[in-house]
Amino acid sequence: MLRSFLLYLSGASWAKNLISHFFLARRVARRFVAGESLEEAVEAVKKLNAEGLPVTLDYLGEATQSEADAADAATQYIGLLDTITGHNLKATVSLKLTQLGLDISDDTCLTNLRRILTHAARTNNHVTIDMESSAYTDVTLRIFRTLRDEGFTNLGTVIQSYLYRSEQDMAELHQEGAFVRLCKGAYKEPSDRAFPKKADVDANYVKLMRAYVDPDAAQTGAYLAVASHDARIIDTMREYARERNVPNERFEFQMLYGIRNDLQRELARQGFTMRVYVPFGTQWYPYFMRRLAERPANLWFFVSNFFRG
Ligand SMILES: Cc1cc2nc3c(=O)[nH]c(=O)nc-3n(C[C@H](O)[C@H](O)[C@H](O)COP(=O)(O)OP(=O)(O)OC[C@H]3O[C@@H](n4cnc5c(N)ncnc54)[C@H](O)[C@@H]3O)c2cc1C
Repeated sequence: MLRSFLLYLSGASWAKNLISHFFLARRVARRFVAGESLEEAVEAVKKLNAEGLPVTLDYLGEATQSEADAADAATQYIGLLDTITGHNLKATVSLKLTQLGLDISDDTCLTNLRRILTHAARTNNHVTIDMESSAYTDVTLRIFRTLRDEGFTNLGTVIQSYLYRSEQDMAELHQEGAFVRLCKGAYKEPSDRAFPKKADVDANYVKLMRAYVDPDAAQTGAYLAVASHDARIIDTMREYARERNVPNERFEFQMLYGIRNDLQRELARQGFTMRVYVPFGTQWYPYFMRRLAERPANLWFFVSNFFRG
């Protein structure tokens, strides 16, 4: 119930206007967001890199409604790639297709993403397309494949283990040798598309994760980013890799900025690639609300800050 309500608020513009101008919300959001400016994000990345943690940077923003805003988001990403090169950061980028104009047209989005990918290839960088709600799954995978077919191998996509369709999607992506970030899924989905029970989402995650890095499967170059803070999933991956001799070159761990920092550092110390997803920018509201929805304890942290003033 609470999760559904918070996810509803994440998309409600009245709530966005109310909450994002609220000083305390900004303060609490800072736990999950590296800052509103690029300079703050660069400082955060430098600290993480110094601790052996590569990152993927997300310039926050969702659902642009005009060609100009969508093109502007692409320009920001191109600037971000230059900043990464200029500061010699160990960082890739992650983005949302609706930010690049997917709600306007597929072509607008493709044109913008192509510009970013061309620049990323020039600067030797990699782009991952975040996955949004299930209304966008088909078109996201279609755009991913269109650009891969054009030769952009520096592109990855996300699969969510809460969706029934994901097993089939992962099997196809494996054959294509794709870079996949596997996560549980952060949106509100109906029970005819997604497992309603968390235990089923978790079990499906483990099943999909193992299949994707199975050393007995055909070697297609497929690469997996295990994006989870779930200690049981991480232990399972570590054990599976050890028992089945899955080399570190076939997978990495990923976690969100500000969540399970202890585990992030432990994995890096053990020699795994542990990439931190670092969001920044002024459009932090929906991202922040999804983080609250994932864990009710975050909400109590927010409320207790409110009463403390
Ligand atoms: C790198 C990365 C990229 C992602 N990209 C996408 C995407 O493109 N599309 C999408 O739908 N979702 C995305 N997600 C979010 C994901 O779908 C989950 O909603 C989120 O990661 C919580 O699931 P979990 O695997 O951590 O497991 P859970 O079972 O939810 O959590 C396991 C443990 O992790 C900790 N934890 C989890 N979430 C939080 C939190 N918000 N605050 C504090 N502690 C927490 C708690 O200790 C919790 O017990 C991404 C997640 C990561 C790590």
